[in-house]
Amino acid sequence: MEIKIGKCSQACGACGRAFVHEEALTSVVRLDSQTLAREDYCAACWNGGRGADTFSVWSLKFYDAQVAEQQPPEIFSPLRQIFYNAVESEERTELAVAYLAAQLLRRQKVFRLIKESDEGEQEIKLVLFADRIGNRLIEVRDPNLSYAELEAGRKVLMERLAGLENPPNEAEEGAGDAQS
Ligand SMILES: [Zn+2]
Repeated sequence: MEIKIGKCSQACGACGRAFVHEEALTSVVRLDSQTLAREDYCAACWNGGRGADTFSVWSLKFYDAQVAEQQPPEIFSPLRQIFYNAVESEERTELAVAYLAAQLLRRQKVFRLIKESDEGEQEIKLVLFADRIGNRLIEVRDPNLSYAELEAGRKVLMERLAGLENPPNEAEEGAGDAQS
């Protein structure tokens, strides 16, 4: 299994002009023999014809990390960290963790759902998200996870979240004294 993360181009795929921070763009992905190829276009170059035969088309604002760094930093997100640690795994429990974390990030509006494949005969369901922070495109795969696998993933996710939000070092120290 291969997970690909497509970043936005630095320049328009048609005219070659470099994008500026927060410029409105239109992006498409094409499904070429199992891999997703991404193209990004400026408003002047976009037309509907470029969206023909694509897997998905969406609009976004270009995110320039160097400009954004001069703005207030994004809040550290334990959920996002857990997601990126799990999404590249090939273990089913890790994929369940990534799948659930992605759904929560979507509720927090950190991830935006771009497209969900829904062909019933496929073994692996593909969900495509845009990560608003860092302007990445992420594929999340659901290899027909069962309810039990999702439940196991949910427990792992909750444990990791608790671990990141409350580091265990200090809490353990005082516990013995309180008991005696
Ligand atoms: Zn252009």
